[in-house]
Amino acid sequence: MKKAFITGISGQDGSYLAEYLLGLGYEVHGLIRPASRKDDALWRIESIRDQVKLHIADLGNSQQLESLVRTLQPDECYHLAAKSFAGIATGDGAAILQVNVNGTRHLLSALNSVAPECRFFFAGSSEIFGAAEVAPQTETTPFHPRSVYGESKVKGHELVHQYRDQHQLFACTGILYNHESPRRGFRFVTRKITSTAVKIKLGLEFELRLGNIEAERDWGFAGDTVTAMHACLNNVEAPEDFVIATGLTHTVGELLALAFGELDLNYESYLVIDPDFVRPKEAVPLVGDASRAKLKLGWQPRKTFEDMIREMVLSDLDYFSHLL
Ligand code: NDP
Repeated sequence: MKKAFITGISGQDGSYLAEYLLGLGYEVHGLIRPASRKDDALWRIESIRDQVKLHIADLGNSQQLESLVRTLQPDECYHLAAKSFAGIATGDGAAILQVNVNGTRHLLSALNSVAPECRFFFAGSSEIFGAAEVAPQTETTPFHPRSVYGESKVKGHELVHQYRDQHQLFACTGILYNHESPRRGFRFVTRKITSTAVKIKLGLEFELRLGNIEAERDWGFAGDTVTAMHACLNNVEAPEDFVIATGLTHTVGELLALAFGELDLNYESYLVIDPDFVRPKEAVPLVGDASRAKLKLGWQPRKTFEDMIREMVLSDLDYFSHLL
C-alpha cells in the first residue's frame, strides 16, 4: 500500500486529493497546523476523518517537519499548504512569504535528509505569470508575478528546481490555474458570487459588491485538478513541471449570469461595482495551455464550467437554507 503525505489536507484541494488517493488504496497522512485542531476548521474532511491520519506540525518548524517525515517515510508528498488568497494587497506579505517559501524549503530539506526516495509535488500557481505578455501561458512562459503570493510561488518553484537539480529529488511543480468547487473559500470570487446569489435569493443579502466584471479567468474544477497532481508523480519516469488548466476563459460577468440565472435572478439588479475590489486590468488573460499535461500525463479536465457553477450554487442553497 502506498503512503501519501498531504500538507494543506484541510483545504479545498487537500480534501479532494485525500478522497481521490483513498479511493486508489493509499494510506493517507495529512499535516494540519495547531490552529486547525478545532473541528470547524476540518469541515472539508469530516466525512473521511476516520480514514486519514492527521499530524499536527508547524510548517515553520524544520525540526518538527523532519522528525515527522522520518517517522512517516511517505512514498509521495503533496505540498498544498499555503496562504492561498492571491489578493493584490501586500499587507500580509511577510506572513505569505514565511509560510509559502520557508514552509516549502523546510519540507524539501526534510525529504532530502530523511526520505530522499519520496516523490514531491508542489502546488504552484498561474500567478507566477501575473502580468503575462502572452496567452495562453505554457511551462516556458517567463515569470512576471504581480503579487506577493505570486512571488512566493515563483520562489517555491525555484526551490523545487534546486532540489531536483542539485539533490536529484523527484520534485515537480504543477502550475495550477484557478480551480473551484463547493468547498472553495468564501473570499474567492466564484464562491463569493454563488454564496451571495443564494443569500439574496433567501432574503439574507440585498447586493453583491465586485470589481471589474470583464475580468477573465481560466476556471477549472478542483476535483479534476487533484487527479493531475497524482499523475505528475505517477505517470512520468522523471520529474517535470506541468501547466494544469482548462485552456478556456470565462468572464466574471458570465459567472454572474450563470449563478444568478440558476436561481431565476437577474444579477444586474443586485450588482454594485466597488472601486475597492477593482484590480488592474491584465494585458492578456491568465489562461493555461495544458498540452504537455495532456500528452505526457494523459490528463484532461472533465467537468464543465457551467456544471461546476451550478453545483456550487445548489450546494450553497442547501447550506444556507439549513441555517434559516
Ligand atoms: P485552501 O486555502 O483551501 O487551503 C490551503 C491549506 O493550507 C489549508 O489546509 C490551510 O490550513 C493550509 N495552511 C495555510 N496556512 C498554513 C500554515 N501556516 N501551516 C500549515 N498549513 C497551512 O487552498 P486550495 O486548497 O484551494 O489550494 C491548495 C494549493 O494550491 C495552495 O498551495 C494554493 O496556493 C495552490 N493553488 C490553488 C489554486 C486554486 O485556484 N485553488 C490556484 C493555484 C494554486 P487551514 O485550514 O488551517 O487554514
